[in-house]
Amino acid sequence: MIDAIQRAIFPELIRFQSRVAGRRALQLARTEMLYTRRTLVRMLVFASIGVAADQLVKWLLVPKHPGMIYLADAALLACVLIFSLLLRNEMRLVLRRYLRMDNVDICIQCGYDTAGLDEARCPECGKQF
Ligand SMILES: [Zn+2]
Repeated sequence: MIDAIQRAIFPELIRFQSRVAGRRALQLARTEMLYTRRTLVRMLVFASIGVAADQLVKWLLVPKHPGMIYLADAALLACVLIFSLLLRNEMRLVLRRYLRMDNVDICIQCGYDTAGLDEARCPECGKQF
């Protein structure tokens, strides 16, 4: 079940030689993402503190003013979703890089299967390799 979800999120995993190799690559990719993840988490924490402070000030100044809370929640949720997508894209690039190091024919840019191509250019995205 978890494997299926991971393969849906990171389709590159099926290109690894074995499940173990895929799992190991995913772990490595996660450690490479450490700096990005920490930065994103810090940004979210600062944004949350800002939103909370803003709400507190509004609550103190205008006691019957609950309308903004939902907007702030929606904005935070949108931030989490956008950051998750950015992180996923970056991890997919790292996984494709690992695959290329294992001599798997895959376009690093878009993940297209480049096996048996005459030209050194991806037909899907045009990237040269
Ligand atoms: Zn491509």
